[in-house]
Amino acid sequence: MVNQPEESLIVVKNLCKSFEDGEGKGVLNNISINIKEGDLVSLIGPSGCGKSTLLRCLNCLELLDSGYIRIGDVELSRAGIGQKPDEKMLDTAHRMRAEVGMVFQGYNNLFPHKTVIQNIMLAPLVVKKMPEERAREIAMGLLAKVGLESVAGKYPSTLSGGESQRAAIARALAMNPKVMLYDEPTSALDPELVGEVLQVMKDLDSEGMTQIIVTHEMKFARDASDYIVFIDRGEIVEYDDGDILFTNPRNSRTKEFLRHFTGTETAVNY
Ligand code: ADP
Ligand code: MG
Repeated sequence: MVNQPEESLIVVKNLCKSFEDGEGKGVLNNISINIKEGDLVSLIGPSGCGKSTLLRCLNCLELLDSGYIRIGDVELSRAGIGQKPDEKMLDTAHRMRAEVGMVFQGYNNLFPHKTVIQNIMLAPLVVKKMPEERAREIAMGLLAKVGLESVAGKYPSTLSGGESQRAAIARALAMNPKVMLYDEPTSALDPELVGEVLQVMKDLDSEGMTQIIVTHEMKFARDASDYIVFIDRGEIVEYDDGDILFTNPRNSRTKEFLRHFTGTETAVNY
């Protein structure tokens, strides 16, 4: 259960983040976790506990205040907010972001004025300067993977919510990330569309992709994750195999949170 740093794709050590220039209690306090390549990890916890902030720190949309993050062989550390980010740190953050694909809640993951396939080709063309034919080939392969070949030429506004999120996953995959992060990717979906998005994550899991998902889909978290991390008030309170966490949480805060869930409820079959 507890992975050693040297066998982990992702290492987070004593990560702290606050939004008040270090005053008061931080939003994230001494977060430490090691995640092995190929693991699917669910982050759960009450609203406002810091789940989104943790994902945003991992893909460097937010710069940590202090602590250490390693993804693959990109290492980012900061001694405290007194250490102003210099060019080297920002360059490292930039390289770390390139290792990470991210999908957000809702329908605004895609550029509305571009077709689905154009959305997926955009970053490979612009960022990687990939030849157009190659980018198209990769994009079609990814659309096939998420079951969306037939909507390649459509505009995002014509897609269902589930199709949009699957397209967003394909777009993130187009940059060949080492890890995929999802922030409540199914929360804005009608219940009948949740399953098709979760299924894509299960498929990616079986292909060995490393994934971290913030979710309230407790059945998915319990069944599909290698382990579940419970976060409360900016701390990792406990993490364990889903079945163990649901049937035998050790910490009273975990018990209290999970009291609201049985770990078997779901709106969908996936
Ligand atoms: P969760 O995703 O678990 O609901 P968040 O990570 O979004 O929680 O937020 C954790 C805390 O950090 C909340 O109190 C939130 O108000 C605060 N917070 C998040 N982002 C910002 C920001 N950009 N500026 C100030 N406070 C923020
Ligand atoms: Mg959030």
